[in-house]
Amino acid sequence: MVEGIKYTYVCVNGKEYLGIDMNTQNVKITRSAELILEKCLKSVWSIDTCCPKNHARWNKESNPWAGQCLVTALIVQDYFGGDLWYCKHYDHYWNKLENDLEIDLTINQFPPDFEPCFDCVKFRKTVLNDKNLSLRYNILRNLVDTYKGGL
Ligand SMILES: [Zn+2]
Repeated sequence: MVEGIKYTYVCVNGKEYLGIDMNTQNVKITRSAELILEKCLKSVWSIDTCCPKNHARWNKESNPWAGQCLVTALIVQDYFGGDLWYCKHYDHYWNKLENDLEIDLTINQFPPDFEPCFDCVKFRKTVLNDKNLSLRYNILRNLVDTYKGGL
């Protein structure tokens, strides 16, 4: 930890992990924090946190990412800040951080050559006005907060 540098922390299961150095855009550190969160999410995503219109696509083993993009982007924003980015063509959300890094923890639900385009920023308050989304976010938030898996 260097004085004068703004760090963001990821806290899972009550432990604190080093996150992003927002000034030097330290990708290595970012990636490790991202991986910790990704592992946690992958183990707690469920049909209850999946967007209803994607229920048929969701599968714990083969497609745990399906329908989890917005709730996941909100959790990532809890830790890393930044903006929620949205592609209307695929109805897909991911994160754009203040240091210009993009994090998309649910991109694996799409084919390997998938490239969403940035169509607009979505605002947290606005998306959480949706009752179903708000419910699913709270379920996921609680699952992440009480996650007991090994890290
Ligand atoms: Zn688009």
